[in-house]
Amino acid sequence: MRLNNTLTRRVEEVVPVDDRKIGMYSCGPTVYRYVHIGNLRTFLLSDLLRRALEFEGYEVTQVMNITDVGHMTDEASDSGRDKMDLAVADEGLSPKEIAQKYTQAFLDDTEAIGIKRVHVYPKATEHIPEMIELTERLIENGHAYEVDGTVYYDVRSFPEYGKLSGNTLDKLRAGHRQELEVDSNKRHPEDFALWKKAGPNRLMRWDSPWGEGFPGWHIECSAMSMKYLGERFDIHTGGVDLIFPHHEDEIAQSEGGVRHEVISAWVHGGFLRLKEQKMAKSSGNIIRIGDLAALGIDPLSFRYFTFETRYRKEMDFSEDALRAADTTVKRLRQRMAEWGGPAEGLGSEAKAFDGRFREAVADDLDMPQALVILNELASSRNVPDPEKYSLVSSWDQVLGLDVERDARAGWQPSDEVAALVGERDAARANKDFATADRVRDRLQELGLEVMDTPEGTRVRPRI
Ligand SMILES: [Zn+2]
Repeated sequence: MRLNNTLTRRVEEVVPVDDRKIGMYSCGPTVYRYVHIGNLRTFLLSDLLRRALEFEGYEVTQVMNITDVGHMTDEASDSGRDKMDLAVADEGLSPKEIAQKYTQAFLDDTEAIGIKRVHVYPKATEHIPEMIELTERLIENGHAYEVDGTVYYDVRSFPEYGKLSGNTLDKLRAGHRQELEVDSNKRHPEDFALWKKAGPNRLMRWDSPWGEGFPGWHIECSAMSMKYLGERFDIHTGGVDLIFPHHEDEIAQSEGGVRHEVISAWVHGGFLRLKEQKMAKSSGNIIRIGDLAALGIDPLSFRYFTFETRYRKEMDFSEDALRAADTTVKRLRQRMAEWGGPAEGLGSEAKAFDGRFREAVADDLDMPQALVILNELASSRNVPDPEKYSLVSSWDQVLGLDVERDARAGWQPSDEVAALVGERDAARANKDFATADRVRDRLQELGLEVMDTPEGTRVRPRI
């Protein structure tokens, strides 16, 4: 498996810390609002990567945090109002109830698009002691300082700051000159909070060595990733928007705490742009996965739609393109049913297709190419149908499209349909084309696709 590593800016072979085992951490959802399909593209990337690694025979342990501590409305400057407090005010529920409601919605939405459950979903609120401990360690190691109940990370104490994002201190300093608001307690404007003193109106607050407060935005991922995956692990994923400051600060915290490199590869997914998209039944101003189901689109088709663009590239959401993907997925399932079932073994043509598919997936998740190979196989005249079936069902470990759904269901015509098919074949045999056409129209009215084959009339559900 080769992956584009944001840290080294190169496509590199994955070399696990521990033999065939991979530890992978993925930044998870904030659970005071619903996730939209743009967020889901990022979560799909971590699922795809995990499936691809498992397809290659790795044993993957995946951890994804649940951010149930509120953070500020202005995440860049850590100012404004706390988002969890805002949700509590809006919905009349307690912070815990808000977190439960949106965690469940997140799990339902990810399940609908075939995202596998990860192994651990640690909640930030259940790991406050670990965050306090890491903060104390950073103070001891000379990377952090406390002022009036708030603890800041001293970015100048970490010379490698900026290595992930390219936002080195020189560059940041130039930017800060224009900024009006600077927290006067900070030694340097680039410093960020590890622990914050709670204001009088703050709902979620905990005791700490520095008084009552709450954790900063970034510390949970350092504390929880190292708790569950150890002080050296393989892969960290997230959206490009998290590279700075979230992941840059995470590196400063984790490496400042343990004094060595923690994560080998950083993998970031591009945005799904939703601008100027109006969907008939979207929930307010965001598009949720449930909105797609209401339009008759199989949520799993969203996977296929995202696979059409390389994961690092930005892509635009388009309802038409999604509908086209939906038709392709449904046709593929129908073809699988027509191919019958798996073969005993694979011939050389089929093996060549398999090799090409695996190579595309292992090449930094080149899914657009993998889909080209899939469609080439489906229309190939050189591979017997049962071998096509075997290949596509094994590739579905990566694709996650439930390709065997129709084959499992085994669609059978009703008695009425079977009688109409018999009537049409009889009419055609008698060259009574008027009756044959009338029966065809009737079958079409029943939602069926009607095909003329050398063996007579064949029907299947129309997509
Ligand atoms: Zn994170």
